[in-house]
Amino acid sequence: HFDWLVLGAGSAGSVIARRLSDDPGLSVGLVEAGGFPADPDIDDPLQWPALPGRAFDWAYRTEPQPHTADRCHDWPRGRLVGGSSCMHAMAHVRGHPEDFEPWRHAGGDRWSYASLLPAFTRSESFSGGDTSGRGTDGPLDVILPDDAVSPVVRAYMAAGNALGAPELGDHNRGRLNGTAPNSLTLRNGRRLSVATAYLDPQILARDNLTLLTEHRVDRLLIEGPRATGILARHTGQPVTLTADRIVICAGAIASPMLLMRSGIGSADTLRQIGVDCRFDSPEVGRNLQDHLLVLGNVYRARQSVPPSRLQHSESLMYLDSSDLSARHTQPDIVLACVVAPSAAPGFETPPYGTAYTLLCGVTHPASRGVVKPGSADPDQPPLIDPHYLSTDHDRATFRTALQLARQLGHHKALEAWRDCEVLPGADMRSDAELDAFIARTASTHHHPCGTCRMGRDETAVVDPDLRINGLGNAFIVDASIMPAIPSGPINAAVVAIAEHWAAGLKTP
Ligand code: FAD
Repeated sequence: HFDWLVLGAGSAGSVIARRLSDDPGLSVGLVEAGGFPADPDIDDPLQWPALPGRAFDWAYRTEPQPHTADRCHDWPRGRLVGGSSCMHAMAHVRGHPEDFEPWRHAGGDRWSYASLLPAFTRSESFSGGDTSGRGTDGPLDVILPDDAVSPVVRAYMAAGNALGAPELGDHNRGRLNGTAPNSLTLRNGRRLSVATAYLDPQILARDNLTLLTEHRVDRLLIEGPRATGILARHTGQPVTLTADRIVICAGAIASPMLLMRSGIGSADTLRQIGVDCRFDSPEVGRNLQDHLLVLGNVYRARQSVPPSRLQHSESLMYLDSSDLSARHTQPDIVLACVVAPSAAPGFETPPYGTAYTLLCGVTHPASRGVVKPGSADPDQPPLIDPHYLSTDHDRATFRTALQLARQLGHHKALEAWRDCEVLPGADMRSDAELDAFIARTASTHHHPCGTCRMGRDETAVVDPDLRINGLGNAFIVDASIMPAIPSGPINAAVVAIAEHWAAGLKTP
């Protein structure tokens, strides 16, 4: 029996287990389906694109998407201590202050950007120069490796500046529009997962913290309006654990699935899979949001492209497409330059070193999807339907993004590098052709979130304390609670949510 059970040792769960166990008077059990990271490629920043599909990947797959040429999209998620932070691309982006306005509307002032800032700061150890507004003694090392940025990426940033994009220098000071090298969570040149940062051997040795690996949680045990524990499986055998309070940190796919298997979800969905409905919470699994990136606007190089010294994607560029020189507005488009030829499956990719790629995406897609179980069997994969590109807004903004990428790619600042455009290809010009290219090549940027939406309204899945509506003593703290997706990669915001929630427990 524990005071607290934390379910999932990913980005959020690692923070929660650390912060709860800071109180020696509390016993904390941390339950993780996977094991400790053992694959040496996890540590190597250059290897992250090779990690999906390995044994520690949940390897989810979406339903066919009508607006992306009926493709099913692979959705890697980490199944190991550290969760998806053991597979991610290490970019650290807090987001734009306005990204958190929907959070404030949903949960009140304590979910505004200003209220979250102390949590962002507390999580970081920033070593990239000017430390004002940045944390310097948090668990998560954040570097700003300006001098390691590839010369091709430098030229792409110069092209952006020539088109009006402000020279920002750092994404994490409250402004997002403009050019900056990516801030990365690296330590001594190696990946720093959130678990490595927050759960070092000293923390894991605490008497009041028990980490149970290879324990897959099937469902919550519920009596009346309270969760009393969990039913898990370890080496195929059922295990029951009990606790006074439970925090679910299983991520944007697994958290709603766990709720639904436990009888909390849409009564209709639960009836279809034969699970008794304990609490009709129709939005569980809904409000699914994700970023897509078009892979890619590929250019053959006229000189050899030096290999990346970082993690291939060295600089995201956020832009307000209505005014490229806008400094303070919320961006609607993101571009990136990858020091590698990067094309969607089905397209010919030039050899490494002979080409580079501009990627483009939409920061605030309007499409909303859904995740639900196809059956009550926890071993069956979830049905994931992100409804990608299902709105006119998303399709039109994507077209603008691709046009901007090409404008940048053809800019004279890239003259020394550009031989010719390989993809979509010089003859592809009409809106219809660009739309078709986007549909065939848009791929996940790996930021699913929103499926256990936080809010003050009665259909929200969790309330502003992140307490599950319908259960007095159980919470969800992970990417699923986001009411709306931030502009950039979301790991920094997930960590901030967890820090913020844990601090709120201490000072309610
Ligand atoms: P996770 O970190 O996924 O943690 C969930 C944990 O719960 C996992 O450890 C899982 O095994 C465990 N779990 C699930 N179900 C069960 C169960 N039934 N029983 C027990 N345990 C369970 N973000 C960025 O900010 N920057 C990037 O550069 C970036 N790149 C990415 C690249 C890739 C390939 C991927 C996959 C993600 C990327 N992300 C990036 C996204 C980021 O990693 C995630 O948004 C973040 O890690 C989510 O944190 P989480 O705590 O919500 O979930």
